[in-house]
Amino acid sequence: MNVPAYAAPAAGEPLAPTVIERRAVGPNDVLIEVTHAGICHSDIHTVNGDWGPQPFPVVPGHEIVGVVAEVGPAVTRHQVGDRVGVGCMVNSCGECANCLRGDEQYCLDGMVPTYAGTDRDGTTTQGGYSTHVVVDADYVLRVPDGIDSAAAAPLLCAGITTYAPLRRWGAGPGKRVAVVGLGGLGHMAVKIAAAMGAEVTVLSQSLKKQEDGLRLGAQHYHATSDPDTFSQLAGRFDLIVNTVSAAIDVDAYLSLLAVDGTLVNVGAPPEQLSLDVFSLIGARRSFAGSMIGGIALTQEMLDFCAEHGIGAEVEVIAADRINDAYERVLASDVRYRFVIDTATLG
Ligand code: NAP
Ligand code: ZN
Repeated sequence: MNVPAYAAPAAGEPLAPTVIERRAVGPNDVLIEVTHAGICHSDIHTVNGDWGPQPFPVVPGHEIVGVVAEVGPAVTRHQVGDRVGVGCMVNSCGECANCLRGDEQYCLDGMVPTYAGTDRDGTTTQGGYSTHVVVDADYVLRVPDGIDSAAAAPLLCAGITTYAPLRRWGAGPGKRVAVVGLGGLGHMAVKIAAAMGAEVTVLSQSLKKQEDGLRLGAQHYHATSDPDTFSQLAGRFDLIVNTVSAAIDVDAYLSLLAVDGTLVNVGAPPEQLSLDVFSLIGARRSFAGSMIGGIALTQEMLDFCAEHGIGAEVEVIAADRINDAYERVLASDVRYRFVIDTATLG
């Protein structure tokens, strides 16, 4: 099946319309007619070559929502007409200790990323900036009623990437949580942490988005460009989730943690980060990382968001505005996720 898509032809080149082939629907496959695809900063890192060489042409997109158009004969959990989602991963071995524990994203055999990855049949995966995808049913999520499709798409990456560390490090009543960077991931972290009952603080480069941050659920908002912020908030937080797409001064943020506090890095800048071990030793602090989340946890996150009336704040765009949207994301000028209306691809 040949379908319209938008692809980056080479590293750093603008995306352009193209046509790609989707495999025939196998026994355990689901054919999804994509309605919405979010633009994640990871798409931009990938096509700009920030993370090394890629199998160009690359069709990005791992925040996919659509409607099931066809299912293979072995599929029982999805039916034609269901509203479904696909995130950053479309396969894993399913047998290793990590997969069996529900951490498919850390599959010992390597999970298959939704785009620019090698699928089990040896082909290169192509993502959601296209009208249709064919995905193994086990990696397809149910989108609960009550979340609009455009607002649901970013949950498939930005939502689960922030939900997973907030859950794991116990965000909830009595916990002080700071979110660094109020972009796609950051604004989801604020909404989710607030819904979990934590006391949330936004740490943004400036105070430009303060009103939004407080509306999204934060109690406090500080500018990191103001050096007083770091003295004022020293030792304050139990958990800091760093969503910044560029390198940060790790020691400065570690100094904001209380004893036993954790700084979790989900931002994935191309630059190396370094730290002074005394920033950890002096207060038994931890510096951690986290990558997306497993399939069962992703479904839990979608159900949690539906229950709490949470979706992403989105700006829906036509496909011919993808390159402009990339520029705006790079300029931290996104409120708070661009989502492509894939009906404009055809
Ligand atoms: P985004 O929408 O661009 O948000 C990043 C935010 O970081 C910006 O809005 C800005 O917030 C802040 N920022 C950007 N440049 C900065 C700089 N030079 N100094 C200080 N702050 C800066 O990006 P995103 O889609 O949320 O993704 C964020 C990062 O997470 C990316 O590196 C992405 O690849 C990574 N990611 C990781 C995972 C994972 O599994 N770990 C999953 C998805 C994405 P303010 O304007 O508020 O300062
Ligand atoms: Zn992403």
